[in-house]
Amino acid sequence: MKSFRADYVFPVYADPIKNGIVTVDDVGKIISVTDSNNPPVGPIESVSGIICPGFINTHCHLELSHLKDKIKTGTGLVSFIKDIQLFRNSDQQLVADAIEKADLEMYDNGIVAVGDISNTNLSIPVKAKSKLYYHTFVETFGFLPQNAEDVFNKAMALVNEFKPQSVSITPHAPYSVSKELFKLIRKHSEEGHNLISIHNQECEDENKFYRYKLGGFLNLYQHFGIDISYFKPQARNSVQSIIPLLSNKQSVLLVHNTCTNLKDIYFIKRFDRKVNFCFCPNANVYIEGKLPKVELFVNQGFNITLGTDSLASNGRLCILDEMRTIQKKFPALSTARLIEWATQNGAEFLGIDDEKGSLTPGKTPGLNLITGLDGLKITPESKVRKLI
Ligand SMILES: [Zn+2]
Repeated sequence: MKSFRADYVFPVYADPIKNGIVTVDDVGKIISVTDSNNPPVGPIESVSGIICPGFINTHCHLELSHLKDKIKTGTGLVSFIKDIQLFRNSDQQLVADAIEKADLEMYDNGIVAVGDISNTNLSIPVKAKSKLYYHTFVETFGFLPQNAEDVFNKAMALVNEFKPQSVSITPHAPYSVSKELFKLIRKHSEEGHNLISIHNQECEDENKFYRYKLGGFLNLYQHFGIDISYFKPQARNSVQSIIPLLSNKQSVLLVHNTCTNLKDIYFIKRFDRKVNFCFCPNANVYIEGKLPKVELFVNQGFNITLGTDSLASNGRLCILDEMRTIQKKFPALSTARLIEWATQNGAEFLGIDDEKGSLTPGKTPGLNLITGLDGLKITPESKVRKLI
């Protein structure tokens, strides 16, 4: 048994405890969370800062880890996608080594579970032996209706390669998945457990494409030689067009939401879909040079989570860094709320909240220590250290 006393303990399932004490057993299972008036028996290690549960990174692409510092920043999503394609055939050993390094980086940064997007089987070996929990989203691309079945079948073959690891099939984004492919995934999602994670409204061009069939994505399809003459403008934003194509049986994570507006949020609320929102602010800054209107999403009744996205669009895989970027831009968002997004909410979405996401006795969530705070505010000096 081991006990830690900190300036604050954030159990997440309850209010923060000043001078709180957490006691864990040898395998990291939470025995108790108390205040200094009711200290547990045995030695107590005192640390300064906040103790919170291990972080949950709900959006990553391990297999893009070798692209760190390779892609230009601030050029916008369409240009980013073109640049990424140039590296799709990189040396497999290089990719595998970068995946292994990225997994260790996340461990060191106090991340205990990851929702990871995959297009290949390259991350399977690292995930199999990792100390982190992984759920893999096998991602489908295919905007041509006639290819839907083929794309679906190939992705399901990859899903089977990942088993027995936790895995599901998912659409990439509204602009890259045909209605027909969405429907195949919906049918599959109604037959059994199949978590969904979709890149949503990462740039304004995505809305322009859906509303008017204009903007950068026309250029992108031309660039790849794909004839999308069948596609008609939908006269509404992308997310409003795809929500009806999703199953109401499965949880859906809408990732990025950089160009999601209040009208879109109200539209989503009118549908009985299990929508969760994930923010990856540092990737948004890297690619688009802007942040989502995070304050619009707060107190709307949605589960909100955080993600790092990949090293292709981020300098680090660190959830504290994402919290820092959000709080700097939206100072009204408390550290307590951001920790909830970074822990319990992600665990709930991934379906692992019986084990992770809060310091509830009986769980093994991992313990993080956040230091370098100003009161409870995250500062440029704030760091995270894994206690267990
Ligand atoms: Zn992504």
